[in-house]
Amino acid sequence: MFNLNPEKIREDFPIFRRKINGKPIIYFDNAAMTQKPVQVLDAITNYYKEHCANVHRGVHRLSQEASVLYEEAHKKIGKFVNARFEETVFTRNTTESLNLIYYAYALRNLKKGDRVLATMMEHHSNYVPLLELKRILGIELDTIGINEDGTLKMEEYEKKINKKTKMVAVVHVSNVLGTINKVKEIGRMARENNCLFIVDAAQSVPHMPVDFKKINADFLCFSGYKMLGPTGIGALIGKREILEEMSPFLYGGDMIQEVHKDSWKPNKLPWKFEAGTPNIAGGIGLGAAVDYLKKIGMEKIRKHEIELVKYTLEKLSGVKNIKIYDNLNIENKGGVISFNLGKLKCHETAGLLDSMDNVMCRSGMLCAQPLVESLNQDGVTRISFYIYNTKQEIDIFIESFKKINL
Ligand code: PMP
Repeated sequence: MFNLNPEKIREDFPIFRRKINGKPIIYFDNAAMTQKPVQVLDAITNYYKEHCANVHRGVHRLSQEASVLYEEAHKKIGKFVNARFEETVFTRNTTESLNLIYYAYALRNLKKGDRVLATMMEHHSNYVPLLELKRILGIELDTIGINEDGTLKMEEYEKKINKKTKMVAVVHVSNVLGTINKVKEIGRMARENNCLFIVDAAQSVPHMPVDFKKINADFLCFSGYKMLGPTGIGALIGKREILEEMSPFLYGGDMIQEVHKDSWKPNKLPWKFEAGTPNIAGGIGLGAAVDYLKKIGMEKIRKHEIELVKYTLEKLSGVKNIKIYDNLNIENKGGVISFNLGKLKCHETAGLLDSMDNVMCRSGMLCAQPLVESLNQDGVTRISFYIYNTKQEIDIFIESFKKINL
């Protein structure tokens, strides 16, 4: 198996032709947003230029073409994570997918005293809705703690799941530490205890092979823009039996089969959960993104990121005053490194890297305040990699780093 060639891949990304102050862009903020290849941009403009019409609403040719393209995109995204077409619902993003579950399922099916188990490394979008369920319904919310190295305290699951536990929610890959959580094992425990198992896959699906069936999840949520796709499109993958039973989230056009003065019937899956005119161009763009990723191969992408993380950690081991917030085995770590540098505030570090050498990274609470605050009250700086990043870019980052680390 040949390694992927980031230099070749970069040719597909117009943004990397851009120079700022005569220097290239070193884009290390991929956990927040990935850049877009021309293939994705073309798929979006091609829809608007050649097939622009609403879906599922017209007998005319353009509407038929748009519907086919939009449905094909569902098939591609479903297949990408080993889910069926009917199990693939398009949403705006991971946040909306998670809220859909909590509003349409949990709010109707859970009651006071039911337990929900999450972790201390959840993103706000998989934690704030649970706090709301606690406030509205009076559910008990419990969390799994984190070891010094950045792994979850797996032994706590046995103790914390009991007969009252109805849902287990977990982030697949932490956007702060990069921890790859043992979702298969957690899923098995959830299943043995008849709990609904929800996986936030925002940082896993773009970076490694993820198999919805193998991890035994009931729901899998992710966002398109983190995997080369456009903004405003994401997916909720849900087990067919559960989606069939569930009430819709939003009500209106396209999610209904028939409406009478006093009644209505829901549409078939997945449209039951896609009320109103959807993000058609976004869905088609995400389909093109998945084509692109599949062509490279998810195994190769994972391998490439392991290489980059290893290389960076080796280089950083010689840097004084740096605090890296995990000590994970590389096999359990995604392409994310969070750190702080000496007495510099995280935003100062990120600002200096950007202004001096166009090294773009994220800083702050990373939308995971319960975890980040426990690492550093002021937040952390984070670099995160993707298919187009190179070792040469890491060298520039390290040199830049040394300049500010005086
Ligand atoms: N979960 C994780 C782990 C994330 O990294 C993010 C995005 N940073 C989200 C959820 C939320 O994604 P979105 O903003 O696309 O809804």
